[in-house]
Amino acid sequence: MKYDVLIIGCGVAGMTAAIYLKRSGISCAIFESSMPGGQIVSNDKIENYPGFSSVSGSDLAISILNQVKELEIPVIFEKVEKVIDNQEVKEVVTDKNTYTSSKIIIATGRKSKKLNVLFEDKYLNHGLSFCAVCDGNLYKDKDVVVIGGGDSAFESANYLSHLAKSVTLLHRREEFRAKKSLVDKVENLDNVSFVLGEVVSFLGEDNLTGIKLKDERVIDCDAVFVCIGQIPNTEFLSDLNILSKDSYIEVDNNFETKIKGIYAIGDCVFKPHYQIVIAMSEAARCALNVRSELSE
Ligand code: NAP
Repeated sequence: MKYDVLIIGCGVAGMTAAIYLKRSGISCAIFESSMPGGQIVSNDKIENYPGFSSVSGSDLAISILNQVKELEIPVIFEKVEKVIDNQEVKEVVTDKNTYTSSKIIIATGRKSKKLNVLFEDKYLNHGLSFCAVCDGNLYKDKDVVVIGGGDSAFESANYLSHLAKSVTLLHRREEFRAKKSLVDKVENLDNVSFVLGEVVSFLGEDNLTGIKLKDERVIDCDAVFVCIGQIPNTEFLSDLNILSKDSYIEVDNNFETKIKGIYAIGDCVFKPHYQIVIAMSEAARCALNVRSELSE
């Protein structure tokens, strides 16, 4: 099957672009390597999405995905490994097939940063998590640690405080990046305490039972939630020379990269604010630009 546009990433940006394209008569398909919805799926409550005073990220993602399905836009569950630019024709190479089209929209978003300390991979899903909303329920009435000092860490600590027996927020310096209102809220929670320090190793047998800090202190706990920021999902584009030094995709005002016919939208593009409505707005504007170009 040949499509006018191939979209990489089935988060809110990719799905919005697909909806705008298909409704304007342009055929498209979306590639997704894991679960549709992207990062909003891990948001417990979204309270700044106009039209809904509060909506869960997964409910919002499912509604958008249903719209994609109603429009009969295929979601291809294959991992994109490479994009090749042959000028008029671009190739999307996945772990299973190669697809071609003249236009590609990249909407691969970002992922959680790892600490890169000893045994981090070993305890993943055995006490170590990057998502409080996804895994918090597993640690009801347990002692948990949240690492980080930004909005994500404070939101996670707030969320977990309603489930866990105790929450220790471990931060590496006195000042927090998180907004003051959130810091004030979490500081007033009875079962949340704060520890200044840096992790050097995770401890345990099969499951995580604690963390060791640089100054040799040990914090015993049943789970650790690492919330130290995000990095863009752009490793598969390293051959294309369209990335900044921080690995974000560089685009012009039309969301086109320096390679004609390859566009990028949403959180994989560097910006001051990473918001659902901003990703959607970029997607709509990019899709309409692409539609105009294809109609010329
Ligand atoms: P962030 O703002 O970049 O904060 C990352 C935190 O992790 C900082 O406290 C940082 O410490 C710490 N950190 C980074 N690397 C570390 C390491 N190797 N070891 C220990 N600590 C480390 O990331 P974020 O909290 O994920 O937020 C990302 C963006 O999303 C922000 O713009 C944020 O405002 C936004 N966001 C908004 C909301 C909301 O509005 N409700 C919710 C979540 C996220 P240093 O300060 O020392 O670097």
